[in-house]
Amino acid sequence: MAKVALVTGGSRGIGRAIALKLADAGCDVAVVYAGREDAANATVAEIEAKGVRAMAVKCDVADAAQAIDAVNRVIETLGVPDVLVNNAGIIRDGLAMRMKPEDFRAVIDTNLSGAFYMIRACLPAFVRRRSGRIVNIASVSGMMGNAGQANYSASKAGLIGLTKTIAREVAARGITVNAVAPGFIETDMTRSMSEAALKAGVAAVPMGRIGKPEDVANAVAFLASDEAAYITGCVLKVDGGMYI
Ligand code: NDP
Repeated sequence: MAKVALVTGGSRGIGRAIALKLADAGCDVAVVYAGREDAANATVAEIEAKGVRAMAVKCDVADAAQAIDAVNRVIETLGVPDVLVNNAGIIRDGLAMRMKPEDFRAVIDTNLSGAFYMIRACLPAFVRRRSGRIVNIASVSGMMGNAGQANYSASKAGLIGLTKTIAREVAARGITVNAVAPGFIETDMTRSMSEAALKAGVAAVPMGRIGKPEDVANAVAFLASDEAAYITGCVLKVDGGMYI
């Protein structure tokens, strides 16, 4: 029987690459998206073309009730998920001195609380089955800090703490919980940055290039695989050496 994977923010960028990679590994994939239905439907079509099942699920992960509803819709259509990838994320950059409280909250709500709500919605089924893989997409920004990203760094550092705690809570139930911390990856998120910020970003990467969404997807697919059965609570950096 095919495994079922749920990827939040699976419609675009890194999440899309993860969804496609998990489909290559034989998973049926639920693509959770916030609002851009066209992108979600396009990714679902690409996944289905690989011969597995897929569905688009509109859900604001920052809303706990929507998270539960989304997981229930996936269970009804594809079955109980085996793999949960918390990838949905946003930025609202600005220096802390001028950062609006609502911009701080919005980033925490989506990047950190959203992951918690999805984990909470999936865990009862994982625990009943005594198996499951959770992979949270953090960021090197959460490990080393980044000027202009007080909200984002805090959300990603929080996500790493969440990963480690849930890993401890469910380790005896056959469930692994890990984080992947990308560095500087080419997506809509980085394309929205200024030319100067992009240049400075690449200059901080010892490998001298921006990463590809597929670089991150490969790491996620490994942590979601049977081969990673004895790995839990780890943070795997995919950053070209940006944070060593
Ligand atoms: P993109 O902006 O390209 O895509 C974001 C995805 O998240 C979209 O699918 C979007 O859906 C979805 N999303 C956003 N908010 C919500 C929400 N509230 N509920 C559900 N889905 C939501 O981002 P990236 O691919 O660049 O980033 C993916 C993850 O990787 C993020 O967590 C980011 O923090 C992390 N990361 C990215 C790095 C980079 O350099 N790009 C570096 C380090 C970490 P929709 O299309 O509907 O808007």
